[in-house]
Amino acid sequence: MTDKTPVERLTARLLCVTPPDAAQEERMRRFLSQKYGAEVALSIEIDPSLRSGFRLSAGGEVYDWSAEGRLQQFRESVEQRALHGLQDGSIIPLLKSGIQEFKLLATSSEIGTVLSVGDGIAVVEGLEHAAYGEILLFECGVKGMVQDLRRHETGCILFGDDEEIEAGSRVARTGKTAGVPVGEGFLGRVVDALGRPIDGGPEVKPSGYRPIEEPAPGIIERKSVDTPLETGLLAIDAMFPIGRGQRELIIGDRQTGKTAIALDAILNQKGKNVLCIYVAIGQKASSVAQLVENLRKRGALDYCIVVSATAGEEDTMQYIAPYAGCAMAEYFMHEGRDVLIVYDDLSKHAIAYRAMSLLLERAPGREAYPGDVFYLHSRLLERSAHLSDALGGGSMTALPIVETQAGDVSAYIPTNIISITDGQIFLESDLFFAGQRPAVNVGLSVSRVGGAAQTKAMKRATGALRLDLAQYREMEVFTQFSSDLDENTREQLRYGQGLMRMLRQKQYHPLSQHAQVIVLVCAMERLFLNVPDARIAAFRDAMLEHFEQEHPSLCTGLEEDRTLTDERKQQILSIAGDFLDKNAARFGRN
Ligand code: ATP
Ligand code: MG
Repeated sequence: MTDKTPVERLTARLLCVTPPDAAQEERMRRFLSQKYGAEVALSIEIDPSLRSGFRLSAGGEVYDWSAEGRLQQFRESVEQRALHGLQDGSIIPLLKSGIQEFKLLATSSEIGTVLSVGDGIAVVEGLEHAAYGEILLFECGVKGMVQDLRRHETGCILFGDDEEIEAGSRVARTGKTAGVPVGEGFLGRVVDALGRPIDGGPEVKPSGYRPIEEPAPGIIERKSVDTPLETGLLAIDAMFPIGRGQRELIIGDRQTGKTAIALDAILNQKGKNVLCIYVAIGQKASSVAQLVENLRKRGALDYCIVVSATAGEEDTMQYIAPYAGCAMAEYFMHEGRDVLIVYDDLSKHAIAYRAMSLLLERAPGREAYPGDVFYLHSRLLERSAHLSDALGGGSMTALPIVETQAGDVSAYIPTNIISITDGQIFLESDLFFAGQRPAVNVGLSVSRVGGAAQTKAMKRATGALRLDLAQYREMEVFTQFSSDLDENTREQLRYGQGLMRMLRQKQYHPLSQHAQVIVLVCAMERLFLNVPDARIAAFRDAMLEHFEQEHPSLCTGLEEDRTLTDERKQQILSIAGDFLDKNAARFGRN
């Protein structure tokens, strides 16, 4: 706007140490009137704090040619170098190279003024050319990010304490977009939404920086999902298998074991060369601390990064956190590694975004969420991918979590995220309280792409499990009211109940692939019919132990070639049958 709209009279301010002579003053005035197409009134002030040179401000821009400005430029360039690490732990070579390579720029930067500030948000006037997502630098050193562009004002979120900023403070554009430090150094650490360690450990030396917002890989850059990501949970791996690069939603009411599923999936990646990132959004600090402790205790923290923006932190931090986690995951994905990322949870993320948007005075839409709340999550989840071989073949699998109210999956945020993801694991309170844990609702859960990634052994062993369970559930409803059931129906019900029991799994007890195959083969061949419900879990665990100890070659064979031949199937059935016969007193029907 400054170059085009003719301004009648422009007031420029010149700060200098020694006043300019008449010729210099005339040159400045001519430069300004050409640039802004207006007559210029120049007010000259002496300011010894500049040390030497001058600083000219006009029309929202500042031309800095002062010693103070140059020192500031040098300070920034040295700081940038220091971020990439000190050589030999000494500052001298850093300063030397800094001086040798320092190029002085006659900077002209756009400067704005703070109009209002509060709740981690500032509204700024005068930054005509600021871009969405650009980082702004406030006078006191706090940084902010542009979030809302209006005709004469710019709304930005703050990455620091807003108490030092007040109406009238100066703000400069930086021309950079927001990024987070990334790298191997972050493994085993707990960091905040800006990648700063908060676990009391030493500083992390990053391998690089990545922008928090990055376009998702295109179709050509992707490969179809073909490798399983095993969660170790029988109910999921057998019926709703997840592939590397997939996005599978975990959805359910509060306290239905959502986090538990994600945590078990992380624990199950031990030794499988999959790195894990857990992003906590709006959680209680104590739950995050407990989760970290759990990971540490079970030897899983080494391959994990925890990004935490707890409920006590500003909404802006909660808003940034999943993007920061995603940027960290992208780094590994582009290095050709496999990554599992958990967003716990996106309903709280949407709520933080809503609060932020309302403070930015955006128009509220359905349920008071701003109009772009779908885009908020789609641009995040689209970044999960299985990259093509040409790009290294890395993958990012996402397990977003969403909390529902009274099982209502048709609310705004749940429907949005269901439509973005490749399937959902639906957890039900009733099942959870009835002791059926993980409380997976078989009818409402689905995995749309993972089937392609399931191993041959699992596919064969699973057989018609889903169908049988669906039939059982239907029959259960019908038979509740009738007392005289024929033997055939009674057996069907007993079989279904047995299957449901078999799918129960304690927390922190992931099952390996071969264990799952063995359990499934026995269950589908109705071996459990002879065991009373209450003892099925105990029988399953004892039988698996028997297989591990007495038939290790069968177990390792299954694990290696991942196929279930007829011969192996018969072998499993006869071993399991013998085991049940021998222990009939313990597990058999009396
Ligand atoms: P919130 O809505 O508070 O985030 P959530 O849905 O994430 O809850 P969790 O915290 O994972 O639920 O689980 C709730 C409780 O149930 C925890 O105490 C957890 O230990 C327990 N739990 C979860 N899964 C199982 C399981 N398979 N077996 C036994 N207990 C479980
Ligand atoms: Mg939880």
